[in-house]
Amino acid sequence: MTKCRGCSSTDLASVLDFGAQPWCNDFLTKDRLGKEEYYPLELVCCRDCELLQLSYTVPKEVMFFDHQYLSSMTSTLGKHFLDIAKENKGQFRLDNDDLIVDIGGNDGFQLMQYKELGLNNVVNVESAENICMFSRKKGIKTINAFFNEETARKHFEPGGTRLINASGVFFHLEELHSVIRGIKHMLSEDGVFVVQFMYAGAMVENNNFDTVYHEHLCYYNLRNVIDLLKPYGLEVFDAYHSDIHSGSIIAKVTHAGGSLDKKTEAFRGTLESDKKYTLEEYLRFFKTVENYKSRLQAFLTDLKLQGKTIYAYGGPAKGNTLLNYCDIDDKIIDKVVEINKLKLGFYMPQSHIPIVLEDKEDLPDYYLLLSHNFAKEIIRKNQDIISKGVKFIIPFPEIQVVGE
Ligand SMILES: [Zn+2]
Repeated sequence: MTKCRGCSSTDLASVLDFGAQPWCNDFLTKDRLGKEEYYPLELVCCRDCELLQLSYTVPKEVMFFDHQYLSSMTSTLGKHFLDIAKENKGQFRLDNDDLIVDIGGNDGFQLMQYKELGLNNVVNVESAENICMFSRKKGIKTINAFFNEETARKHFEPGGTRLINASGVFFHLEELHSVIRGIKHMLSEDGVFVVQFMYAGAMVENNNFDTVYHEHLCYYNLRNVIDLLKPYGLEVFDAYHSDIHSGSIIAKVTHAGGSLDKKTEAFRGTLESDKKYTLEEYLRFFKTVENYKSRLQAFLTDLKLQGKTIYAYGGPAKGNTLLNYCDIDDKIIDKVVEINKLKLGFYMPQSHIPIVLEDKEDLPDYYLLLSHNFAKEIIRKNQDIISKGVKFIIPFPEIQVVGE
């Protein structure tokens, strides 16, 4: 029996069952086509603490030893990370020698923004060995390890870290409670833990069921994060909604009763908007998703019957949830175009669509935008091909076509 990752309750309700799915980042070489491993993908909700989570964990050694995602691929994230760094430098009056640590800092993109502001005492803790190389090339001290209590105690002084950042990794963490103990150990008396996570409420509002994949073990509302941290003497004191990744929350955390622990107005407002998202609301969401599946299938099949060619634009991990749940494969989509060279020559798991370099000489009638969270940026930079008649299908929150 599975236990809740937050409160250990065994009273879990099934919300959304995708059946067996290949691990979403298992981009395949040609000789591995058809040999991908399948794992259960089911979203459940704890009846006691209402934390949305996956019922099954793919071992972290399978998921994070190596991966092909690079933060620095999009300019939207670059601006976002710089805004975050400026905001925190001002809000917490960070000094140039204050220690700043990024958990799962990927290729060092966020820490580079702190360095831009003259804050040079930065350390990245990144589990994927191949990604660490990119971070070190930027001159960032990088520890190749899974962040947990043991890593924190081994590499960091007690109470020596002024700012700990975790952007978009807090839902990946299998050893959630050990990670929180590690943060508690490192954080200085006036230190702040800045955590950015995809907001479960936004997933429901935007119909973004494609954010459900094996690496995302938990789907938080603010109250879930508060409940998780409280037993460790950590308090959220500031929080707000951000549009990044189709809807996230950025929360700021410090020691309970510490000098920073004064709740902001933004915190209260963000907590208030959580109230809507209950188990009943999640079950309604499931019905919406089932209806969506048949609509997208009908829409794409109709285009094929008209003789149109369809490629996918971008091959993010979550694209595999959308394609595989909706049974869209290489008979409907001829290729996935990418700019990330680490993915070229590979095939999408299950759908077996080949991934090729974006080429403006080889254009389809329609692009299905799998990287829809960067829709604005992608539409802007593709105005030239849109004017030539190429159309973009943006799948969420409702199927819409740009260029018609
Ligand atoms: Zn629970």
